[in-house]
Amino acid sequence: GFDLSQFEVGDMIGEGAFGQVYVASHKRSKRVKVALKCMVKSQQDRYLDVDGHSTPVLAEVAMMLRLMNAPRCPNIIRLHHWLEIEDNFVLILEYAESCKTLLQYIKDTADIEENQARQLMRQLIRAVMFCTERGVFHGDIHTANILVTLPRLELKLIDFGCAQPITQKPFNKSDYRGAGHGMPPEALRCRVFHAYPAYVWTIGIMLYEIMHGRLAFNNRQSIMFGCIEIHPRLSTACVDLISQCLIRNPAKRLQLHQVEEHCWFNPTTPNPV
Ligand code: ADP
Ligand code: MG
Ligand code: MG
Repeated sequence: GFDLSQFEVGDMIGEGAFGQVYVASHKRSKRVKVALKCMVKSQQDRYLDVDGHSTPVLAEVAMMLRLMNAPRCPNIIRLHHWLEIEDNFVLILEYAESCKTLLQYIKDTADIEENQARQLMRQLIRAVMFCTERGVFHGDIHTANILVTLPRLELKLIDFGCAQPITQKPFNKSDYRGAGHGMPPEALRCRVFHAYPAYVWTIGIMLYEIMHGRLAFNNRQSIMFGCIEIHPRLSTACVDLISQCLIRNPAKRLQLHQVEEHCWFNPTTPNPV
């Protein structure tokens, strides 16, 4: 079992409106590190039933638990345990050692090469596909919720605080609790949206941001009507993938299973001249 007395709490590694994230090491086996995500209970907290049980738990925990049954996905941060201590929730998470957020990685790396981008995108797609298989819509995929380990560029999706179960019914715009710049245009226009095309939109947004070092769209107006400026250094295949993921009509957008089959992921070795 896990309880907090087993851990020695170290530095704060993240902070938000919610509370803080600390690194902690296991007292007996010093090498084992975890991340403690500490949150104060609030009126706005959403609760869901854990599958197979009737106990409602914090939605973030319920959604993560769906992803923790074997076989797990290496690209989704692991939830070891969670605790309720008085007015606080503490999530005991796998600690991503020597990592940066994708946001920081993009800031620190000028002109990320397509090979690196491809490696990251393959892992992001693996994480997204895994979430869909377990019926989880993450709902807040952006560069601060993606960790990248260095130098190996292993990607870990974190922060299921806005996650929702995927059902037959579409989501309403108000179900979208993630950062506004990640909202798909159909949520803004039609007020309803489906998880799969929304995921594909986000994949396009992430690839654009990795390749350009800035957001594809800055506000709702540009999400609905704006043009994206593509850098001329991008390969034709890369431009095509971005454009097809960012088609505003979700019925015409690339489908999730088509994304990983896109030719950008299968670069043919150039012929020696
Ligand atoms: P919030 O719900 O407030 O956005 P997050 O779960 O996104 O909280 O965590 C906030 C920040 O803490 C992240 O952007 C990241 O920098 C850091 N962080 C969170 N979880 C981990 C982890 N498991 N390993 C390393 N850093 C983490
Ligand atoms: Mg976050
Ligand atoms: Mg969150």
